[in-house]
Amino acid sequence: MGATGFCASNAPLCTEIAVVGAGIIGVTSALALARQGHQVLVLDAQGPGLGASYGNAGHLATEQVFPIADVSILKRLPGMLLDPMGPLRLDWRYLPKAMPWFTRLLLNLRPAPYQRTVAGIRALNEASLGAWQRLLQSIERPQLLRHDGSLLVFERPESLPAIDALHARMREQQVPVESWQSQAVRDAAPQLSEHLQGGLFFPETGHFLDPYRLVGELVKAAKAQGVRFVQQQVNSAHFNDAGLVLVSDQGSVHARRVLIACGAHSAPLTRALTGKRVPLDTERGYHLMLPHEHGRLPFAVTSLERKFIMTPMAEGLRLAGTVEFAGLARPPTLGRAEQLHRLSRGLFKHELNTEAATPWMGFRPSLPDSLPVIDRLCDGRVLLAFGHQHLGLTQAAVTAQMVAALAAGQPAPLAYRVSRF
Ligand SMILES: Cc1cc2nc3c(=O)[nH]c(=O)nc-3n(C[C@H](O)[C@H](O)[C@H](O)COP(=O)(O)OP(=O)(O)OC[C@H]3O[C@@H](n4cnc5c(N)ncnc54)[C@H](O)[C@@H]3O)c2cc1C
Repeated sequence: MGATGFCASNAPLCTEIAVVGAGIIGVTSALALARQGHQVLVLDAQGPGLGASYGNAGHLATEQVFPIADVSILKRLPGMLLDPMGPLRLDWRYLPKAMPWFTRLLLNLRPAPYQRTVAGIRALNEASLGAWQRLLQSIERPQLLRHDGSLLVFERPESLPAIDALHARMREQQVPVESWQSQAVRDAAPQLSEHLQGGLFFPETGHFLDPYRLVGELVKAAKAQGVRFVQQQVNSAHFNDAGLVLVSDQGSVHARRVLIACGAHSAPLTRALTGKRVPLDTERGYHLMLPHEHGRLPFAVTSLERKFIMTPMAEGLRLAGTVEFAGLARPPTLGRAEQLHRLSRGLFKHELNTEAATPWMGFRPSLPDSLPVIDRLCDGRVLLAFGHQHLGLTQAAVTAQMVAALAAGQPAPLAYRVSRF
């Protein structure tokens, strides 16, 4: 049945493919599907790009091929959890709910699943830069991405063995990486403090100048391709004879197929339509935007010891990072965003200007094996693309290509299927 035939019913809103979620994953996918000739309608409870995709660190992090945790974290974990302003926070009230997720995370640290995760992340990351460059070229906005590398710095001499070990592991995984001495850091980023010991430079990475504008430009391109956007929250969904019905806060939307791409909120809808329970949780993250900071850094810089990133953006310098387990419902702990400024103290020759700084919190959509779900279920009537954890921006363009392939009937790659859980 063609799209027009399907939508001949009197349903108030009808489409061939409904995309739920207008974050970076939903919007890039909607554009790819429309370019493939599908009729597409995107629904989001808020405006496009206001979820996690709004406030991420903008880092095209192709070098991050290792999962969020490895066995070495187990020793450091108690100390990290006892520090309320440390890089990792657990809201203890959330522990009972998070326990099954943590258990799976621990099981995934065993060698075989760990290697599967690394291979799964690598396959996406290695295709990410090219996919983004082609996508941005196709919408005539290549300048939104700077392919200028990124730097991981360290400041304590005793961190050298950790840096050397990371360097070796990355080379083993064929990540393009250069070891920089302190002089090279000083030459490239003269505003950083002189006490930095050196770092690892990743030439095949980059940063986006404005993640929110990026979504906006993709929305424009999608609209030009015929994609419709509506602001509606989808509360439930069921199949009917013709396809499926999404029940929203404003009525119902009829579709032949659906792509569930609502980030950290994707599990209930997936369950309603497919019966599958996906162990999706959220790692809440924070940023502090400094609008008066321009020209401090040539590219994104991460601190090994302080565990946060600083990205130069069109609107200023963005300090971002931290992981907080507290679920989707609890209010943000905005002190964690302010803490990012305290963490930056001593990293520069002169302190950062925090005038008019704005804090933000967002929900990273995370699965316990650090891989996303990119899958087709129910004879292709339900497509899934969510759970990109710390790498959703990096992997969005390549995910969109995969979603288009799934819509064209290709099977999902094993590594990203729901059936792995
Ligand atoms: C602090 C921080 C820093 C980060 N830094 C980076 C980085 O440097 N590089 C990188 O690659 N990644 C980074 N990430 C991760 C990245 O931002 C996410 O993986 C990515 O944004 C996820 O995109 P998404 O489209 O799946 O989800 P989202 O952007 O969260 O979009 C989901 C959308 O679905 C909508 N929605 C939810 N439920 C419903 C419903 N029932 N009905 C209708 N709409 C609904 C929401 O309103 C939202 O707009 C970072 C994340 C954080 C929090």
